[in-house]
Amino acid sequence: MKRVLVTGAAGFLGSHICERFLNENFKVLGMDNFITGSTNNVAILSKHQNFEFIEHDVSNFIKVEGEIDYILHFASPASPIDYLKIPIQTLKVGSLGTHNLLGLAKAKKAVILVASTSEVYGDPLVHPQKENYFGNVNPIGPRGVYDEAKRFQEAMTMAYHTFHGVETRIVRIFNTYGPRMRLNDGRVLPAFIGQALRGEDLTIFGDGMQTRSFCYVDDLINGIFKLLFSNYNFPVNIGNPNEITINDFAKEILKLTKSDQKIIYKPLPENDPLKRKPDIELANTILNWKPKIHREEGLKLTYDYFCSLSKEQLYKKDHQNFKSYNKF
Ligand code: NAD
Ligand code: UDP
Repeated sequence: MKRVLVTGAAGFLGSHICERFLNENFKVLGMDNFITGSTNNVAILSKHQNFEFIEHDVSNFIKVEGEIDYILHFASPASPIDYLKIPIQTLKVGSLGTHNLLGLAKAKKAVILVASTSEVYGDPLVHPQKENYFGNVNPIGPRGVYDEAKRFQEAMTMAYHTFHGVETRIVRIFNTYGPRMRLNDGRVLPAFIGQALRGEDLTIFGDGMQTRSFCYVDDLINGIFKLLFSNYNFPVNIGNPNEITINDFAKEILKLTKSDQKIIYKPLPENDPLKRKPDIELANTILNWKPKIHREEGLKLTYDYFCSLSKEQLYKKDHQNFKSYNKF
């Protein structure tokens, strides 16, 4: 049996990745420090006999006994609210954490895939975004801690491939949604659904004319699998090109949740990208991948998940682990 290490295993995407590998008959070692992750996700995975878990901050040296065939590095705060609250941790996990994992991949002769992001394109001046676009990032703006950590991650990963011959893959993930997102993580979909479920007004930042393109988690994970088992070392966009304004997205959520709350407008956060849409021609050509799940279907699946949460989860405001990490 092949063995895979997944960092960020207690998080939204990491937990889905672990589950997919377990279903495909791999041994899975999950690693996480729970800074934005959930012990519930690990409890679900731990029911599986081929799942092991180590609580560890990957920005510190990583020691793993035994062989590892694949590494998927998904540890990192991912929502703007999260990485604004823990900026130094965010910079460290994208840089030092990635360096540690590349070193581990080299020592274990493992294939490593790192989770990059559409944020490497910043507030893009090219639309839709193709992999050969270098981006428009403000390094010292509020999003710089995330965007630059991810850009460094890509540079370090390419260097390990070029200079050490490590088998590397880089996935540039565009806005992805689905069950197990944290209702209070600040990203637009859980924010709107949480507001609708609590009977609050929906908050749109800016004039709502900014766009995003939302991909359902199962489609993303299919793309990541295909990329991992390909032999392609350069970055690949994985996302759903179906673009929508945040205004129209809010209307879709009101319809889905059968709510009649008002929409209220708040200031647009600094450097919030005005448009985002992946060009997925490369993934289509080299991986024969494209998303299959339409937003209407994906939103329904996600809404059903949020409806199954307890009242306590619905009203929880902040993440418990932030305070203990703020000192770094
Ligand atoms: P998430 O916050 O749900 O999960 C991240 C996980 O990483 C959490 O469980 C957290 O505790 C863990 N973590 C953070 N720092 C760590 C550290 N130093 N050591 C160990 N564990 C640590 O976020 P997510 O949406 O699942 O994102 C996962 C990855 O995918 C991130 O790297 C993110 O940048 C990338 N990504 C996600 C999206 C998206 O739309 N969800 C888009 C682009 C990129
Ligand atoms: N957004 C919003 N209201 C919210 C949360 C987010 O209007 O309550 C906007 C946000 O300003 C951005 C878009 O929705 O323009 C997507 O935000 P998200 O945090 O989900 O992801 P990102 O900006 O990283 O794509």
